[in-house]
Amino acid sequence: VIGELQYRMIRKSRLFTPGPTPLLPAAQFAMAAADLHHRTPEFRALFARVVKQLQEFIGTQNEMLLLTSSGTGAMEAAVANLTSPGDPVLVLSAGKFGERWASLANTFGCKVATVSAPYGSTFDLDQIRNQLTGDVRVLFMQATESSTGVRHDVAKVAELLRQADTLLVVDAITGLGTTTLDVDKLAIDIIIGGSQKAVMVPPGLAYCAVSQRAWQRMESSRQPRYYFDLQRERKAAATPEGSFTPATALVVALGAALDFLAAQGSGSVAEGRCRLIANAETCAAMTRAAAGAMGLELFARSSPAAALTAIKSPQGMDSGEVVKAIKTEFGAVIANGQGEMKGSLFRIAHLGYFDYMDTLAIIGALEHVLASLGCDVELGHGVTAAQREYASRKAKAVTA
Ligand SMILES: *Cc1c(COP(=O)(O)O)cnc(C)c1O
Repeated sequence: VIGELQYRMIRKSRLFTPGPTPLLPAAQFAMAAADLHHRTPEFRALFARVVKQLQEFIGTQNEMLLLTSSGTGAMEAAVANLTSPGDPVLVLSAGKFGERWASLANTFGCKVATVSAPYGSTFDLDQIRNQLTGDVRVLFMQATESSTGVRHDVAKVAELLRQADTLLVVDAITGLGTTTLDVDKLAIDIIIGGSQKAVMVPPGLAYCAVSQRAWQRMESSRQPRYYFDLQRERKAAATPEGSFTPATALVVALGAALDFLAAQGSGSVAEGRCRLIANAETCAAMTRAAAGAMGLELFARSSPAAALTAIKSPQGMDSGEVVKAIKTEFGAVIANGQGEMKGSLFRIAHLGYFDYMDTLAIIGALEHVLASLGCDVELGHGVTAAQREYASRKAKAVTA
């Protein structure tokens, strides 16, 4: 025990998971004072302001809805409001969240066709084109697949849908704030985000932007829906309120987080979002460089997301051991693989409230942990590669 006491440091709890992500302190403080009734002028004013800021954050003219649920609630709402039983729909699936679209659409009795890609890869556009028969009513996809760390090319898929009567629904729950998406130009009919991802507040709110075409489709869609009836939510939002009791404290927190983004972006939420995306890109590039220098293999090689980096566990090592050791020795939480990927990879998040310091620290911790688990890792190689990546991005930006 004495030996251990000589090196053991205090442990701060830190999340490096792709949701929930670290909380913005200003959002936490705001939440603590949130003793508001939801049917009051004060709350209505806040609700209206947050919805407006979210619209800027997404970068759309489409109407925004704020739902009290986790992100999956908004995914279910998209299926329940846009389809009818028996509708042919197409799901692009390359991971656990793509699979979630397929099971949701099956649950609602849609005729589900799937274009899949192996875990760690993105889709072949020709395969999508071949599946896009004229009768496909909705295409469901992720912007970034959080289970594998892959970014999908939403713009290319959107191009395939030009002129078609197929609606495009994008789960951008880890895509928003990590990927540039011109929602209106790409004609994304419903784009979905969640509070516990890039917007730095606790889980419990989902938000989505709904196109004119999507509202029209809802007139004729015949699925049972109650809590997630988006047309009713739209009417309430016009007052401006939620239909039921919203998670008021989270709305307050979200307002504070969007104010923070505006402050980061010289007063503009849209500019704050650009900074947030660049921030995630830099953290991700540093992490990928470090992995390479440490002799680790990336799980998503050809199309890595900025939201998170998935790294393969060294040969013969269960990734659960890495996750556990980082928690025990340093108090930090990284994510194991999900489902069939459990044990073979670990995931480090970059979306939201992460910075240079956080990124270097987790890389340094990873080096220690891998070395003590018996991997052939030279301390400092990963950290140095990450620093060089930062320096080279900085130099490029300065000369540009
Ligand atoms: C986190 C996440 C979700 C939603 O998960 P919830 O637990 O319902 O909030 C959906 N899709 C992706 C890509 C995610 O990262």
